Amino acid sequence: MRGTMMDFPLTLPTILERSGRIFPRVELVSRKPDKSIVRSCYGTFYRRARRLAAAMTKLGLQSGDRVASMMWNHIGHLEAFFGVPCAGGILHTLNLRLHPQEIAGIAKHAGDRFLLIDDVLLPVYEKFREDVSFERVIVVPYGFNSVPEGFLSYEELLTGVSAEFQYPAIDENDGASMCFTSGTTGCSKGVIYSHRALVLHSFCCGLVEVFGMSQSDTVLPVAPMFHANAWGIPFAATMLGARLVLPGPHVDPESILELMVSERVTIACGVPTVWIAILDALEKNPGRWKFDPPIRVVCGGTAPPVELIRRLDRFGLQIKHLWGMTETTPIGTSGGLRAYMSDWPDHKKYEVRAKQGWPAPFVEIRLMRPEGPGTVEGKKSCEVPWDGVTTGEIEIRGPWVAASYYESPDQAHRWTADGWFRTGDVATMDEDGYVKIVDRAKDLVKSGGEWISSVDLENALMGHPAVKEACVVGIPHPRWQERPLAAVVLKDGTQASPEELRAFLAESFARWQLPDAFVFLDAIPRTSVGKFKKIALREQFANWNWDS
Ligand code: AMP
Repeated sequence: MRGTMMDFPLTLPTILERSGRIFPRVELVSRKPDKSIVRSCYGTFYRRARRLAAAMTKLGLQSGDRVASMMWNHIGHLEAFFGVPCAGGILHTLNLRLHPQEIAGIAKHAGDRFLLIDDVLLPVYEKFREDVSFERVIVVPYGFNSVPEGFLSYEELLTGVSAEFQYPAIDENDGASMCFTSGTTGCSKGVIYSHRALVLHSFCCGLVEVFGMSQSDTVLPVAPMFHANAWGIPFAATMLGARLVLPGPHVDPESILELMVSERVTIACGVPTVWIAILDALEKNPGRWKFDPPIRVVCGGTAPPVELIRRLDRFGLQIKHLWGMTETTPIGTSGGLRAYMSDWPDHKKYEVRAKQGWPAPFVEIRLMRPEGPGTVEGKKSCEVPWDGVTTGEIEIRGPWVAASYYESPDQAHRWTADGWFRTGDVATMDEDGYVKIVDRAKDLVKSGGEWISSVDLENALMGHPAVKEACVVGIPHPRWQERPLAAVVLKDGTQASPEELRAFLAESFARWQLPDAFVFLDAIPRTSVGKFKKIALREQFANWNWDS
């Protein structure tokens, strides 16, 4: 006993209990597959999540066992986010948009014992059931009212246990949930989040400079709950008593806009491609949806272009920019303006808001370069200075940064000998700690020994009035190693030639940085979590004829 503070564990049962006692009347809203709305509250959620914990314990769940979920964003899934870890298990959210074989491989790697699945997703399960061996498959009646033979019924399990439940002993460093990376840089890797990390991350979500989430908010997570630890939202909202609006499978722009208005959403979260589509819908239907007061749009996953931020502002959708990763629970940095910038001209403010922002409390970042220019003088390490110009790879550490991948010893090189995680993202930092992502290391266009930022080119292209979406990739080139190719989706009814787009970019870029090729597409391929799928474009245009 050192005579200081109590050693109080940071675990999820405390958050669950608090939600039932302090916020029983706060509403939870979710949309069903038939688009009807279901209303519940934290009081009911609390009782059902405890029953789920009791039911899983009765089924034989042991501490540390993985329980997979294959579910849309709805209240049942929220129950699983607490019911499983509060029984000592680990909830592993499966990405239902992956190829069935990939889902099976991930479930096997994770060693998932049980599967919780929405009835409407059973057809997906049928495609890989031969390749997995879950002990029990529990079906959640989300779209239909009956459970097919051979499966356990979620509702029957819940009614089959007593409401009294004694939480098992849980250490704050025990695993609570699990997520696999989306695999854009190779095969998927598993991250297990500890109770402690989830609790501390939830406090972080409450900070004004991050989500600013509180009991006075209504939060709409558009990003699927299987992406990057559901952005931490289930845990933060439950701890802070925020009203949740869960969109189910309906994430098209009109459905989302309609929910935002009818449910008076104050915070909405999604990747930039979601907001690009929503902006398009808003611009095509002036006056149809109105947001007053403005909605905080929490946006990350890729960099939102300046023009997207500016145009959404006009509709009362204010982008709050975050950067993070599956490995960082996910919040690493959050963007925004500093007090001393209040009288800056608009264009400078937008430039700042497009930056990824500064590290969250207790998250530490350094930029490293293996060799070459820009290293801090006198230091043996190759940390680059925070001058807003010199680029380096982001290395990160903190209480909610993964210390390893689940059973992947071949990935140990992603952590440095002194305990930092190598992110693979290349960035600059300025003297105020603002991070600006230049690119993922593998997405930088390596042209004749120089690096070209695909992010900067995309950002600028999106500023052209005819451009709806833009994605830039490096394509092999016989002389320069790689040259940039820009894939562009034009707005309906507009036109732009490659020459015009090149001239537009030439106003802000050096000649050697300009894309040498432009292709016009109907749509840019997306990853399973809605980001632009650069790898698909690189493959499609790998044999580009640069002489033509
Ligand atoms: P994931 O784990 O699938 O969410 O992917 C994480 C990666 O997404 C990061 O390493 C970045 O490359 C990218 N990313 C996330 N947020 C941002 C952002 N705000 N700006 C640019 N890239 C981002």
